[in-house]
Amino acid sequence: MIFYTLVIDMKITWKLTLFSTFIVSLTTLSMVFVLYETMKKSLIDSHKRHVASIVRMYVRRGMYPGARKMLLIVNGKVLSDPFGIAGKIPYRDGVYEIDGDYYIGVSLRSESRTIFAASYVTPAIKGMQEVSRRLIFFAASGIALSFLASLLMVNFSLSPLRKILKAVKEIDISNLEKRLESSGSGDEFDELVREMNNMLNRIEKAYRAQERFVHDVSHELKNPLSSMKGFIGVLKRWGFSDRKLFDESISEIEKAIDEMSDMIENLLRFSKEEILEKSLVDLKEIALETAKELERKYHNRHVLVQGDARIYTNRDYLRIILRNLLDNALKYSNDDVKVNIKECCLEVVDRGEGIPKEEIDKIFEKFYRIDRSRDRRKEGHGIGLSLVKELSEKMGMRVEVESEPGKGSTFRITWGGRS
Ligand code: ADP
Repeated sequence: MIFYTLVIDMKITWKLTLFSTFIVSLTTLSMVFVLYETMKKSLIDSHKRHVASIVRMYVRRGMYPGARKMLLIVNGKVLSDPFGIAGKIPYRDGVYEIDGDYYIGVSLRSESRTIFAASYVTPAIKGMQEVSRRLIFFAASGIALSFLASLLMVNFSLSPLRKILKAVKEIDISNLEKRLESSGSGDEFDELVREMNNMLNRIEKAYRAQERFVHDVSHELKNPLSSMKGFIGVLKRWGFSDRKLFDESISEIEKAIDEMSDMIENLLRFSKEEILEKSLVDLKEIALETAKELERKYHNRHVLVQGDARIYTNRDYLRIILRNLLDNALKYSNDDVKVNIKECCLEVVDRGEGIPKEEIDKIFEKFYRIDRSRDRRKEGHGIGLSLVKELSEKMGMRVEVESEPGKGSTFRITWGGRS
């Protein structure tokens, strides 16, 4: 359990290094073990065969010169004991150490005889031990080398990750535009950098939108709030004695509240990253609904809806666009207003005060209002047309304006051909 927690808490560099060293050690040690055991077995087997062949010769011929160079016991009688180990060595097959020397014992049984023979194998066994010592030394050096090599390799392979970590630590709200540097290698780290940059793009976009929203709202709330405060002051002083003033102030406060909620709704649209859902939209139906809504707002001024078409688009966005265009058309004119629905486009036409040529490009900028003294009489924040432009672009449409001061304006939303 402690080992497990220790491994879990380790840095990846150490985990990978230790893991690869562990695998190398396991392979090396098992190879050394198998090699040593095979050598030992073949050495012992060859000695056994040698001893057995001498003993067999002895059995066949009665006596054999080679038999004198080994311990030979037949039916319990010691016939030869050049090393003086009879009685010290177990009379069974195997390799035995007696007084610092090594002997290999072989027992054989024929019809009438039980034979035990042992020969001197100290040089062979010592040689084996030397070989095993060297094998262990080489295995240990190999393991140490593999540990160092793995550490270097892992360190080198993870260096891009350390760079990413350093760069990520440096990014905060004050430098959200900063991006991670791509190595261009196309490996997993490079892919991570690309995905993290995409994520940072999304975060920055959302953060900027929120920032803009907070800034815009706080900026734009100042006017309606101070106008409300003014009317509340009027109410406090004269509200109880002058009924007409009371009604007027209340209706102005109501207007300011409506204005504020309209403005907040519009600004919220700017700050949202919405997924565009499209469906087949009946333009005439939407135009009639919006026209009715605005006719009520402008005390039954008339909006004429002409033509009919269906297009594949986002219904909510289209409604907001139409509402803003109709609102402006009614606000900046005194005559009836027309909505023309065509195959290629939708037009909102008024015969109002029009827009000077040099202002046409600017009216789509956020918070821009032509000649503030002219527009001060009319409610508005200069947000409507910038929202119309942004939403049209999101839907792949274009906004065009034709206008002549004193004659009127035509705002056209184009979707380019049949839909
Ligand atoms: P606002 O809330 O001021 O109407 P908009 O963004 O909708 O803001 O419009 C920006 C400016 O463009 C307006 O202040 C107005 O001067 C001018 N404008 C927009 N529509 C019309 C129109 N139909 N006729 C004349 N001027 C217009």
